[in-house]
Amino acid sequence: MIFSTKKLFAISLLSLSVAAPTAYSADANELNLYSARKEQLIKPLLDQFTEQTKIKVNLVTGKADALLKRLEVEGKNSVADIFITTDAGRLHRAQQAGVLQSIQSDVLDKAIPANLREPNGFWYGLSQRARPIFYAKDRIKPEDLSTYEALADEKWKGSICVRSSNNIYNQSLVASMLVHNKKEDVEKWAKAFVGNFAKPPKGGDRDQIKAAAAGQCDIAIANTYYFGKMVHAKKDPKQQQAAEKMAIFWPNQAGRGTHVNISGIAVTKAAKNKENAIKLIEFLVKEDSQKWYAESNHEYPVVAGVAWSETLTSWGKFKADTLNLSNLGKLNTEAVKLMDRAGWK
Ligand code: FE
Repeated sequence: MIFSTKKLFAISLLSLSVAAPTAYSADANELNLYSARKEQLIKPLLDQFTEQTKIKVNLVTGKADALLKRLEVEGKNSVADIFITTDAGRLHRAQQAGVLQSIQSDVLDKAIPANLREPNGFWYGLSQRARPIFYAKDRIKPEDLSTYEALADEKWKGSICVRSSNNIYNQSLVASMLVHNKKEDVEKWAKAFVGNFAKPPKGGDRDQIKAAAAGQCDIAIANTYYFGKMVHAKKDPKQQQAAEKMAIFWPNQAGRGTHVNISGIAVTKAAKNKENAIKLIEFLVKEDSQKWYAESNHEYPVVAGVAWSETLTSWGKFKADTLNLSNLGKLNTEAVKLMDRAGWK
């Protein structure tokens, strides 16, 4: 492929936007990882893997979208063997962009529940997070809550805080609703749900929980690990105090279960070290790895029987939606359009 100067310039700009040691080669006993997860959430495990296997692992961290762009631009010349990112919707995007390859591993098929991996082996869940409802303990009785769908009830007018519709977590939540409900019902729901917002969406998940704690709304929707981070924010007592005022409600327990998503991993199409890449992924689903990987970000392990952290245990068990997460990516465009039409900013 011949690149124009303009395109080459765009490539060099892209490489700059991702903090990257650039001199990695495709050495047979090395593995190159592009990770949208922060270094401290995975590096100690990679070090252990290297110690056990003598396979050196080079880690490039960056923002999910920038890393995906980089994989696309580098194409088959990419040194990356593995891509790590969060949300099945994003993993689907990478798959669609043609930068991933499918792998086959009995170890992975046995360890990871089928709904948390791509059916053809294009990507695998490594940790799980739920996206439940958070409520202000002093104002809301949990008996008044039930399902995501019920948040469209007019009794919640001016009560709900949730981030913008351009966020993949909300897109995946709506995509999951499209799997389980008729499209026109989800559309009706979205309009009424947006009508119940306390304020126009702004900020991240933690901001929604904080706003509810501060009385700007009564209910927030957020991923569980953000709540875990707030509970443990020892250097920021304000976050801890906000978390103290809030509690988790697990929606849809009488039906399909609470919406869950993953942080996941995939072998790149350009991988020069496919066998080692599979070895690393298999290492990451071992019991000890799973425990550490989940706990490092207040997440749930994907492998059944691996102990939960004390914090997660304190939130109680819940029924999780078991739909195959590859559906979230497939329905992403439809979800985004629907949220747009509903006026979800
Ligand atoms: Fe997040």
